[in-house]
Amino acid sequence: MTIRVAVLGAAGRMGQTVCEAVESADDLELAALVDQDGPRIESLLGAQAQVAVDFTMAGAAMENARWCAANSVHMVIGTSGLSEPNVAELAQMFSASHANALVAANFAIGAVLMMHFAARAAPHFETAEIIEMHHNTKRDAPSGTAIRTAELMAAASPDWAADPTVDTSVVAGARGGVGAGGVPIHSLRIKGAVAHQEVVLGTTGQTLTIRHDTTDRTAFMPGVLLAVRAVADRPGLTVGLEPLLGL
Ligand code: NAD
Repeated sequence: MTIRVAVLGAAGRMGQTVCEAVESADDLELAALVDQDGPRIESLLGAQAQVAVDFTMAGAAMENARWCAANSVHMVIGTSGLSEPNVAELAQMFSASHANALVAANFAIGAVLMMHFAARAAPHFETAEIIEMHHNTKRDAPSGTAIRTAELMAAASPDWAADPTVDTSVVAGARGGVGAGGVPIHSLRIKGAVAHQEVVLGTTGQTLTIRHDTTDRTAFMPGVLLAVRAVADRPGLTVGLEPLLGL
């Protein structure tokens, strides 16, 4: 059966890519497009949209979520910048709704696996550093993915702290920082790059490098479509793609 999909933020960079991905999937139908100029979210009712995909801005995504929960439209949320209280509110409103939601900070399946593998590897190594590289218009450093990777590695290896003999002093202007568990993060901002991350782990006589490269925004689409197809069967709020990948 075809799933009727609405795209919120349809005129944006991610929104346009989602529209193309939905249109080229045989089992999905693009039912409604919503952006700041154009039809409003209420148009989802007339369009009989079953799942709304949100790539807007944090405040807008929360407003859209309140509307979707109240009107029983499932939601897949990719918008960044949601706070912990925001996620708690999403859990509360979708547990009280007939509709479900999935929120993921990273829909690139390879990036989710990179984080998972880095966390699996962490207990077997003594040192690790993360090098992340993004386009030069990315404002934040380190990236949310790098910060999250360090958190997952530290959680998987609670006794782990960075080697204290390593000089962690940072020259003024250096980008990056020290993540959870003392994992140093190095942030490159390079014109022409998209999103890339390497996790380098080291122990006696060996290093292990886990690397993920994104070449364009289509990288996020298999994960977005996976979520669109799964969300109706997952009551309440699902956080992250991991449960959909069996991780
Ligand atoms: P963008 O600025 O190109 O697009 C955002 C769009 O949302 C714009 O067209 C804007 O007009 C629209 N918008 C704003 N408020 C709205 C509202 N109330 N209703 C409807 N539309 C509204 O940004 P982008 O590069 O497409 O990124 C969008 C979001 O997705 C950002 O938060 C970004 O960080 C995030 N993102 C997440 C992932 C992921 O894997 N989860 C991947 C890439 C980007």
